[in-house]
Amino acid sequence: MARYTGPVCRLCRREGVKLYLKGEKCFTDKCPVSRRAYPPGQHGQGRRKLSEYGVQLREKQKARRTYGIMEGQFARYFGKASKKKGVTGQLLLELLERRLDNVVYRMGLASSRAEARQLVRHGHFQVNGRRVDIPSFSVKPGDVVEVRESSRKKTRFKEMAQSASRGIPGWLEVDAEALRGTMVRLPSREEIDAPVQEQLIVEYYSR
Ligand code: SF4
Repeated sequence: MARYTGPVCRLCRREGVKLYLKGEKCFTDKCPVSRRAYPPGQHGQGRRKLSEYGVQLREKQKARRTYGIMEGQFARYFGKASKKKGVTGQLLLELLERRLDNVVYRMGLASSRAEARQLVRHGHFQVNGRRVDIPSFSVKPGDVVEVRESSRKKTRFKEMAQSASRGIPGWLEVDAEALRGTMVRLPSREEIDAPVQEQLIVEYYSR
């Protein structure tokens, strides 16, 4: 399972928005997006006018980078969303939001999606009582996600449990003490705070 391993703050600077990829640092004034609000690289401060294609491409990249997904897998998510009944862009975001690593992040048990992904890969979580170590596992309404018994004593989770009440979306019910969360329903578009215009992603793939 490939993943991006380069400098992540460059990704935010390229997109020109905070993608919150680094956990706590994103909430401090050390965030490079606030300090150097222009794209990275030698020509970052030059003028640039994006073509229509460029705008669509940037939107797709923004969504992909927000959720930490590689090109091929993102295209597969789009393919899956376009086969479903409904608004493709919203269905795409819904599929991304339902990933197990994202759910763990939304539950407040990791400071970033990258950390959540690592915790899942290391086998610290179970879904409906069964160990799941696949970050892309799709959580469905009614599923219970919790930290496994053997991992509960980890200081990381104890610390996280204390701050777990921070901004938990309405589609999740979280018991911070028990390190457990239930997906009560599918997320609505308003509850997905990814800074993307999904229609542009649909246009990108429809070219
Ligand atoms: Fe880096 Fe976070 Fe700021 Fe993005 S939001 S540039 S990841 S500190």
